[in-house]
Amino acid sequence: MESNKREWHGTHHSWSYRPQAFRWSGEMISGINLLPIATEMRAWMLQRGHLSIIPTHEAPHNSGFTNPYSKSGVTLSLLMSRVINSSHDYANFSESTDDETDSEIERLRLYNEILLYSTRLCEASIKQLLYCTQIPESRYGRMALGQLLESPCPGCKRKNGKEPHLVSLVGTLAHPYHLCLEFEHCAMDHMDLVNKLRNSQAAHSGIQDLNIRTADISRSQLLEESTDILSGFLHMLSHVEKLEQKMLMDLESKGEAINRLKLNGLEAKDCNFNLVPGEEFIFQVEG
Ligand SMILES: [Zn+2]
Ligand SMILES: [Zn+2]
Ligand SMILES: [Zn+2]
Repeated sequence: MESNKREWHGTHHSWSYRPQAFRWSGEMISGINLLPIATEMRAWMLQRGHLSIIPTHEAPHNSGFTNPYSKSGVTLSLLMSRVINSSHDYANFSESTDDETDSEIERLRLYNEILLYSTRLCEASIKQLLYCTQIPESRYGRMALGQLLESPCPGCKRKNGKEPHLVSLVGTLAHPYHLCLEFEHCAMDHMDLVNKLRNSQAAHSGIQDLNIRTADISRSQLLEESTDILSGFLHMLSHVEKLEQKMLMDLESKGEAINRLKLNGLEAKDCNFNLVPGEEFIFQVEG
C-alpha cells in the first residue's frame, strides 16, 4: 500500500541508554529490558513464528522485566492476532445465507478492531524502546502515535514568545542507527496513515457508515480494507523490527562489557556510564 507522502519537520536529538534498558540480577546485568514486539508480530503474520507470553513472576531485582510497555506490547500482540484470525475467518467464510445486517455490523466491528490494535501496538512498540532511553517517561507516556511522530519541543514551548519547533521521538530513536531516511520516507508515513484512520474512525465519535447490503458485499469490503491496512502495518513493522534488532544487539554488547567490568572489580559507585547508542562502549576510569 502506498501511503500518502508528507514532509516531516520534527528534529531528531541525540540520546543515551539508561540503566533501565537492562534487567538486573542484583548488581549484574541479566538481560535486556525489552522484547522484540514488532519482530514477533511480523513473524507471526508471515506464519514464521509464535508470539511470546511475557515471562512472569520474576522480581525486578531478580532478572524480571520492568518495562511496562513490554507487557502491554505482548498483550496487544496477542489481541491483534485474535483480531486478524477473526477477520480472516469472517472474510473468507462464504455462506450466502448470512443475515445482511449482522454481517455488516460484524464487518464494522472487525474493521474498527484492526485499526485500533494496529495503532496501539505501534504505540506500545515505540514506547517500549523509548523506555530504555534517558528521555523521561513523563515526556511521552501519555502521547498517542501522532505526537510520537511529531510534537512541539517542550523546552522551547516554555520560553516566552518563542515559536516551538517540532521534535520527532520516533525519528530520535532511529537517528543513531542511521535509520532516519527510511523512517521519514516510509515507516512514519505508514504510522501517520493508520493513526489518522484510527482517530477518525475507530477511537472517537466518528465511524464508517453502517451500509447494509448483502452479506457477501460486506465480507468482500472487509477483505479489501483489512488487506490494505494489514499490508501497510506489516511493512511498517519491518522498519520497527530493524530498529528493535539494532537496539537489542547494541544493548547486548554493552551489557556484556559492563558485566565484564563488574567481574573485574569495578565498583557500583564508579558505574556512571554514558551509553551512547550505536557507538562501541569503551570505559575510561575518570580522574
Ligand atoms: Zn526546542
Ligand atoms: Zn535523524
Ligand atoms: Zn518501507
